[in-house]
Amino acid sequence: MTVTLAPSPAPQPPTVAGPLGVLGVPGQVNLDYAATAPCARAAADAVAELLPWYASVHRGAGALSRRCTLAYERARQTVGDFFGARAEDHVIFTRNTTDALNLLARALPAGTTVVTFGGEHHANLLPWPRGSVRLPVPREPAEAVRALAAALSELRRPDGRGGPVTHPARPGVDQGPPVLVAVTAASNVTGERWPVAELAQVARRYGARIAVDAAQLAPHAPVDVASLDVDYLAVSGHKLYAPFGTGVLVGRADWLDAAPPYLVGGGATSHVGAATHDVRWATGPARHEAGTPNLLGAVALAAVCAALADADRAALHDTEQALLARLRDGIAALPHVVELRTFGPAASRVGIVSFVVAGRDSAEVAAELATSYDIGVRDGLFCAHPLARRLLDEAAARSGRRDLPPTALRASIGLGSTTDHVDRLLTALTTLP
Ligand code: PLP
Repeated sequence: MTVTLAPSPAPQPPTVAGPLGVLGVPGQVNLDYAATAPCARAAADAVAELLPWYASVHRGAGALSRRCTLAYERARQTVGDFFGARAEDHVIFTRNTTDALNLLARALPAGTTVVTFGGEHHANLLPWPRGSVRLPVPREPAEAVRALAAALSELRRPDGRGGPVTHPARPGVDQGPPVLVAVTAASNVTGERWPVAELAQVARRYGARIAVDAAQLAPHAPVDVASLDVDYLAVSGHKLYAPFGTGVLVGRADWLDAAPPYLVGGGATSHVGAATHDVRWATGPARHEAGTPNLLGAVALAAVCAALADADRAALHDTEQALLARLRDGIAALPHVVELRTFGPAASRVGIVSFVVAGRDSAEVAAELATSYDIGVRDGLFCAHPLARRLLDEAAARSGRRDLPPTALRASIGLGSTTDHVDRLLTALTTLP
């Protein structure tokens, strides 16, 4: 396949002033933030500032190297603080959310049962061991809470522990065979938010731990492991206005320190002897971060976290919700466009809308939006095939239309999105041939 690209125009100045302004290209309407958000000025500045100091991390004695090591560990602290890491947590830099959840899957104690829902992104469906329980996608957030309680109650029954654990000696530990609940905080298909705090309470009641895939919530709302009372959190930097290649797993140190290293090699060891198996692995984040780390990514992610921590997030939220309402209302007014949703129309959600254009192939529509209107959206099943297929079937049943395509389109917004961007998509959808 030959791919040709137009020459790059000069970068567009950020549409939002300050560190949370995002970089873009003039004339291009990026409505694909859920796949990868544009880079924030804070991230670009942090990288530019560090570049002259480029040197090894945790491996060199020179001044440059010492500064880089300090910058990396400060980034860990900033990112951990931003996500509410507790004293008993590790903050481990990974490549992205997929990497973070795979790391956690490898760190599960033997015999752990993982309970998840069928509406997850593949990153939170596929890493889990055989024997995991996959609950049906609920109709409403409250149904998720009830279904989880029923499933955990059932799981605890075989060893005589049916029913809630009343006085856990230590939440999530010592309550029978380990159980991990793995759930998304916001769907990458519908943008709908899941009741994470309530699910965490249910997990606690049954002595289970809970891991939250916050890839889609973190760019839109504060996520704090301590106040949500969740055990693990996974996030991607490239969806949070930082560059590709950096993610984070925040969570309880005990399983992570007891597990074999995720990667083996330099940096993950405290002692290596001459004999083949004479190795002692480091504890702490280093155990799972073998190899030279991605300093620039970590520092850029930390810079975005710091900028978001300083920002008026309620105001950012209100702006985004107003744009989202405009987009959803506009779509609802188009008789040939049908939105995909799991929960009722009033469910709270982040800036993501998936939809289909009746009678039109979604890949063709996406290509047409790109070539004729300079609008970038995503098409397909969004790495959540079971959910997307089910929602497509339901959209057909709800709308009574028999001409809906087998894949969907997704528009997603965030910092720097404007009413003009939304209106250009709505106009394009109205005028598509
Ligand atoms: N979880 C959710 C909800 C996502 O939307 C995504 C990516 O779209 C992922 C996990 C995986 O993220 P990454 O590709 O950055 O690993």
